[in-house]
Amino acid sequence: MTQSERRTFLLQVLLKEHPEYQGLRIPADADTQRQVQNHADAVVIGAGAGLSTSAGFVYSGERFREYFSDFASKYGFTDMYSGGFYPYPTMEEYWAYWSRYIYINRYQDAPKPVYDDLFALVQDKDYFVLTTNVDHCFQKAGFDKKRLFYTQGDYGLFQCSEPCCQETYDNDKLIRQMVEAQGYIIAPDGQLTVPENPILKTYIPSELVPHCPHCGRPMSMNLRADDTFVEDEGWHRAAERYSEFLRRHEGQKFVFLELGVGYNTPVIIKYPFWQMTAKNPNAFYACINQGQAVCPPEIERQSVCIHADIGAIIAQL
Ligand SMILES: [Zn+2]
Repeated sequence: MTQSERRTFLLQVLLKEHPEYQGLRIPADADTQRQVQNHADAVVIGAGAGLSTSAGFVYSGERFREYFSDFASKYGFTDMYSGGFYPYPTMEEYWAYWSRYIYINRYQDAPKPVYDDLFALVQDKDYFVLTTNVDHCFQKAGFDKKRLFYTQGDYGLFQCSEPCCQETYDNDKLIRQMVEAQGYIIAPDGQLTVPENPILKTYIPSELVPHCPHCGRPMSMNLRADDTFVEDEGWHRAAERYSEFLRRHEGQKFVFLELGVGYNTPVIIKYPFWQMTAKNPNAFYACINQGQAVCPPEIERQSVCIHADIGAIIAQL
């Protein structure tokens, strides 16, 4: 299927198969998707790792080698995920690794404007975002923080590793200090840059190793990896706002737009989206995923599943 065929197909399904959209014609102009979405009462975006991959956040290959070749030759791992699990002998090395990782994947802009294009599609709508991504891309693209629920944490937050309390701490300043202490320069545009004739360290000074301000134990990232994950006040408020959004629009014309959600944690986004679509004849489910775009037969007539690069599809809409 060519790109324009796929787009036409998506529009046909969006407009024809969904009973609420039958009154709309298929216009030829580029505002079509906006018209479809304007006709919906609520858009819920469910986003997984595939969306950030499409935006250029790739954790292996050239992007890995650019920032981690010294760690790679020392310890033998070949992608950022594996490096994150490596049992470093000291906290100084552990935080050297993680500060680079957090900086380039949280504080540096995404290589491609996929999140910006997505924001342009929904910014005038009553939307809400549910995401398992922890890289802050939605906020950076301009999405309203009150319309976001990032369920699995944020690379930009530290917590107590115990944890002794349900608090999180912004790590912006400390992460910058850690990468600069290794010899990197943060360019005016935010890019992490290697100076000329670099001697990069693979450890940070001991005084930069973060400790909990309450109990003095080591800090950890606020990421849901095990049962030590801290759900702070902001997390609970976001969870409540999401439930309230769903309640407020109950039975109305929903578009559930699922982007790059895999099968690691389908109970957070994918299965609830399927269930809510099945229960609501006014709901429409759209799934864009490279290789894993499927839906159960029960909601086939209310769905479109597109196997493709998310950024390429969104750019066409
Ligand atoms: Zn503590």
